[in-house]
Amino acid sequence: MPGFEFFGEEERKEVNDVLNSGVLMRYGFDNARSDWKALELEKLLAQKMEVKHAHLVSSGTAALSVALIAAGIGSGDEVIMPTFTFVATFEAILSVGAIPILVNIDETLGLDPDAVAEAITKKTKAIMPVHMCGSMSNLGPLKKLCKKHKLKLIEDACQAIGGSYKNKPLGSIGDIGCFSFDYVKTITCGEGGAIVTNNPKYYTNAEYFSDHGHDHIGKDRGADKHPFIGYNFRISELHAAVGVAQIQKLDSFLATQKKYFTIIENALKTIPQVTFREIPKGGEQNYSFISFFLPNKSVTKKVHAALGTAGIDASFYWFDNNWHYHRKWRHFKHLKTLSYYSNAIYNQLPNYDKIDFSDSDKIMSRTISCLIKLSWTEEEVKLRAEKMVAVIKENL
Ligand SMILES: *Cc1c(COP(=O)(O)O)cnc(C)c1O
Repeated sequence: MPGFEFFGEEERKEVNDVLNSGVLMRYGFDNARSDWKALELEKLLAQKMEVKHAHLVSSGTAALSVALIAAGIGSGDEVIMPTFTFVATFEAILSVGAIPILVNIDETLGLDPDAVAEAITKKTKAIMPVHMCGSMSNLGPLKKLCKKHKLKLIEDACQAIGGSYKNKPLGSIGDIGCFSFDYVKTITCGEGGAIVTNNPKYYTNAEYFSDHGHDHIGKDRGADKHPFIGYNFRISELHAAVGVAQIQKLDSFLATQKKYFTIIENALKTIPQVTFREIPKGGEQNYSFISFFLPNKSVTKKVHAALGTAGIDASFYWFDNNWHYHRKWRHFKHLKTLSYYSNAIYNQLPNYDKIDFSDSDKIMSRTISCLIKLSWTEEEVKLRAEKMVAVIKENL
């Protein structure tokens, strides 16, 4: 997955353009600058994602917060999210005063639409599917639920850039899509993120909000109006410059990932006890991870440990992971915060100690995901696939 593996002359050239002009900020200083890297990357991203608008921000987490705010989601509103994601999802929801409603996943490793339907209340304002490890939840039924209940669909596509559903890029399917360009994502800016949307109102909201409410009309920042209160989630030109180079490598990254994924998948398919993550009909993943199921929890734990011992790096057992699965999110479930949050959060957060997520646990406890690295050679991938098959067979 990580774009940092292929980092070179192209990135250096783009960054040097910015250093040579000396303007590190994306707004203002029009006379001093020769480059608008953030604008360039936004244009490239909007094209790639087949949307009208793309807006860069300082991180994927910022993108999630900005997306929620742009769509008018705030204090006391409920936002449905999966039990399997990065902590940033609930952090962003809490950051706007909204209530994260955790819902079970299915074998797509994303939100289970039936569980989502059960979780919808009068307070629900949005569904936030997370396209973990390069593939998607069942977006068709989720979209239908949004339409029926007048909810916003906000896609966390931070880990799935380049994947698609029914020929539409992931991130472009909901009302707003969010991407991360942090250092370990498929393409990176070092740090950075983006929202994409076809809704001009959400775009304008996001654009103003992430720069203190500046309306960016005219060329004098000091004379800008502030139609509403904002915040600072700006990206710098240096970071955007890295992204300009990286996005032009995305297609070749995806092709390499697909090739290596397929070699490993074909090898694992020879083991009848191994099954694979479900890809929704019409979906194409970005192949940044290969995720598979083993028959039960104890075998899966054993295989995961044995893969590590055999030198198969970058394999993940999310069930025991501190950052990506609900079981270890005690700080969230018990609201361990540095300061007092808004009352709505204390009053409305479900008592997660009492909620049964065994449907998720049954799936996650049998799941292993392996990162697909761009820097491998084909020979290395073949050897790796053989080794994985041997390790799994020994531990079944
Ligand atoms: C990385 C990630 C984020 C947050 O992105 P940052 O740029 O690191 O803030 C959010 N959601 C998911 C699913 C991620 O993987």
